Amino acid sequence: MSQVTVVGLGPMGSKMAETFLAAGHEVSVWNRTASKADPLVAKGARRAGTAADGELLVVSQISYQAMYDSLGDARLDGKTVVNLSSGTPAELRTAARWVAERGGTLITAGIMVPPPGIGQPGAYTFYSGPKDVLDRHAGLLGALSELTYVGADQGLAMVYYQAQLLVFWTSLTAHMHAMALMRAAGVAPQDYLPYAQTLFTELGDDGPMGYAKILAEEFAAGVYPGAANSMHMQAAGLGHAVDTLIEAGVETTVPGALKRLFERVVAEGRGDDGLGTVIESIRKP
Ligand code: NDP
Repeated sequence: MSQVTVVGLGPMGSKMAETFLAAGHEVSVWNRTASKADPLVAKGARRAGTAADGELLVVSQISYQAMYDSLGDARLDGKTVVNLSSGTPAELRTAARWVAERGGTLITAGIMVPPPGIGQPGAYTFYSGPKDVLDRHAGLLGALSELTYVGADQGLAMVYYQAQLLVFWTSLTAHMHAMALMRAAGVAPQDYLPYAQTLFTELGDDGPMGYAKILAEEFAAGVYPGAANSMHMQAAGLGHAVDTLIEAGVETTVPGALKRLFERVVAEGRGDDGLGTVIESIRKP
């Protein structure tokens, strides 16, 4: 049994505190709006006097600014702060220095599940910061999810986390465009769903449609073969997809931006390359 103070009791922090309690740990809780601690206190948590009350602070708030606002000018000598909030890698590195200046150590984290997934099989969290410090708390943090350690640089947890979220948001928005197109044609979302599920699976596997892996290999090699499916063809094809949405009366902000990106790739002289070449334009805005 370990002691932990959970700082930030939104949907995520509340579920984390509950999960620590269920695992038998001694849990203190703190939130800016104090009343959000009440249900957890009813379940056996202790109400912390301040956000810095405890040796191990597990923080889950809307931003890193919220951590600064919550801890204020408290000393953090010998304390470990594990922050699972969203931010940018540069913000996390700045926060690591801020915590160190107050005598503490910051472990940064990006948790890859919504509240119901916390503590469930398949949940994982990217962690970065000093490994020996993380290892000391691995038993407790393991109650939330699997620990995926990505390196000592405190910014790295957010590099991995934001990479995953970019894929999450953009691919699911594409799925919503596809469903809107279907609905406009009178097709029920459930009738289209099996095809979407097949495509999502195939893109991640090792087969001929396994483009997650194919593009990673092409990017590593810096070679983007396009004989079978050139960017000339794909830019024209994407134009047809966008026109299909327009015909259907569906909005086109994201696909339209993608069309302009593909056209730029061709204009830059790489129309004979394959899809992977788009990354060379993405890297140079
Ligand atoms: P929010 O991101 O809405 O965060 C709410 C918490 O932040 C509350 O405790 C709130 O306090 C606190 N807060 C906001 N501003 C301040 C401030 N200036 N000072 C002190 N506390 C502040 O809710 P979630 O719980 O959903 O998310 C927490 C973090 O987890 C976020 O960074 C989010 O990106 C990340 N995350 C969320 C997931 C999800 O599915 N919800 C999944 C994975 C990660 P108060 O109650 O007083 O307003």
